[in-house]
Amino acid sequence: MPALKRLLAGVETAVAERRRKCGHNPTKHVISKGEVCLETRVGLGRKNYCRECALKMLENGLEDLAVLRRALE
Ligand SMILES: [Zn+2]
Repeated sequence: MPALKRLLAGVETAVAERRRKCGHNPTKHVISKGEVCLETRVGLGRKNYCRECALKMLENGLEDLAVLRRALE
């Protein structure tokens, strides 16, 4: 049986190798070198999100998954 498609392919954590801007709020949120962040790759685009924004995004994602699950069960 082929492997199931992963819904979160292209989303992973990474340690910033240099100072980065947060993709959600690039003027106010800074990701310092050595800090863990969330990295997303969609097509050729790549964005990084600070821990604060990433945790909120994961919370939203969990809610979205719960809605989808309830609809399918
Ligand atoms: Zn942020």
